[in-house]
Amino acid sequence: MKVSELEYRRVTAEEFSDAANAAAGRVKAAGSAADVLAAREGYLAALCDYTTASALSYMRYSINTADPFYLTEKNYYDEAGPIAQNASLSYAGALLDSPLRCELEKALSPVLFKSLEVQRKSMAPEIVPDMVEENKLVSEYSQLMAGMEFEFRGEKLPRPLLMKYAKSDDRDTRRECYAVLGGTLGAHAAELDRIYDSLVHVRDRMAKKMGYRNFVELGYYRMGRLCYDQAMVAQFRRNVKADVVPVVARLRTENARRLGVTDFHLYDNDVVIPGGDPAPCGKAGIFAAAREMYHAMGPETGAFIDMMLRNDAFDVDSRKNKWGGGYCTEFPKYRQPFILANFNGTAGDVDVVTHEAGHALNSYLISGNRFALELNCGGMETAETHSMSMEFFAWPYMARFFGENADKYRYMHALDAFSFIPYGTMVDDFQHRVYENPDLTPAGRDALWLELEAQYRPYLTMEGMPYLDRGTRWQYQMHIYETPFYYIDYCLAQTAAFRFLLASRANYGDAFARYMALSRQGGEQVWTDLLREAGFPSPFAPGALKGLAAEVEKMLRDIAV
Ligand code: ZN
Repeated sequence: MKVSELEYRRVTAEEFSDAANAAAGRVKAAGSAADVLAAREGYLAALCDYTTASALSYMRYSINTADPFYLTEKNYYDEAGPIAQNASLSYAGALLDSPLRCELEKALSPVLFKSLEVQRKSMAPEIVPDMVEENKLVSEYSQLMAGMEFEFRGEKLPRPLLMKYAKSDDRDTRRECYAVLGGTLGAHAAELDRIYDSLVHVRDRMAKKMGYRNFVELGYYRMGRLCYDQAMVAQFRRNVKADVVPVVARLRTENARRLGVTDFHLYDNDVVIPGGDPAPCGKAGIFAAAREMYHAMGPETGAFIDMMLRNDAFDVDSRKNKWGGGYCTEFPKYRQPFILANFNGTAGDVDVVTHEAGHALNSYLISGNRFALELNCGGMETAETHSMSMEFFAWPYMARFFGENADKYRYMHALDAFSFIPYGTMVDDFQHRVYENPDLTPAGRDALWLELEAQYRPYLTMEGMPYLDRGTRWQYQMHIYETPFYYIDYCLAQTAAFRFLLASRANYGDAFARYMALSRQGGEQVWTDLLREAGFPSPFAPGALKGLAAEVEKMLRDIAV
């Protein structure tokens, strides 16, 4: 069925809560594991209906934000969220505290119980008012950023359009773009500082109410992390600093020379290819190439792309009243993934059929798994492993998207992706230090950012850029305000994606089979176990990135254009 024809009906938070509470009651009264499993079926049916309705309403709203019906529905689910979450929590508590737990862990999965435990540690009824306040501050920030106008050469532009000039081949244009970016952010400095300071304090307060030392621990629980903790992430940071930073610094400095740049500034960081980064063929060409590519990869991926195209599960044209970002979502009741994007003619358009389709393929593969609704595909680091690796498995097919510029694309893609690891790790390091020291002043946070820049991106300088030279680059990294501690997931996934890239260059068929096996498992296995099964080492062991960095450096020199 076409996505536009999927039936929508509001499933209220009360309906869902009644079902979840009834299931919790049955679990508490259960005399055998079989009784609990029967109660779980009732909970899952309600969860499936509720999740599907909430995702469908959001999708219909995002394709036309002016549609009054779906705007009302979206607002309903925004408000109903905490009620539904509370009901889930009581169901989770009943399972966790069941005297039959040992038996249940065997009948279901220990990972499921670990995930329920983390869920319980991430929320408590007494922090609900703080959560509401946090959501308000996040919305305030999102609206401030979305509404900010940047005046560039006589035109008033939103930030995504301004930042297209950051990719200009002309250095003066890039410098001017960043000067406008910094100047405009600087005009809103007081608001940006106030909102973040309030966010840090409300998050710190929630953590302390729940008995944690600071927000870091709570932040990890909120991310649903099951297989790595703060100490392991700290070791990952040391690995990045020791072995990835020097390689990226060397490669970026050498590449800058090819661009005619000897003093690497922040405004030189968004360009890779002399003469301008390559652009793909248009929309029709991209979809034709994607269909060919997924069929060439195998029958299963072929059936997947045919289903997506047959059901019109992509909405990629920019138009008035359409939400400006991109995402991949799914409607579990219909086992249907959906991708929204806004094509703009850059290489980013291709990500829609590689990165986003990597997410969609995973949700297609796991839709029948027995824990698909409760564990989804696992943590965000696992989800991004599915998508970022697919970007690399698409490499042999890039001539279909970029014609004679395919080599340039591959070089740009790999250098960008590898440079991202230190940057993303810095964003995560910054957040640890901020939440460990919640009373840092705004100026103290900026100084901290500059200190970290020198460690993670020693090859570039922010000198001479209005406002940004004070160490405020973090203020337009939206995750820092909106989704704390999310960022490291991208970095971890990127290391796994590079492992798959290197393996695929040695033996594509074997690497792709291991990738499909990993994706098919979903959340029933934690990420570190998935990596081990795929034949890759954990990135958390001391020195774990040394060999990878050396191999990536060699590959980048081999494919340099
Ligand atoms: Zn993604």
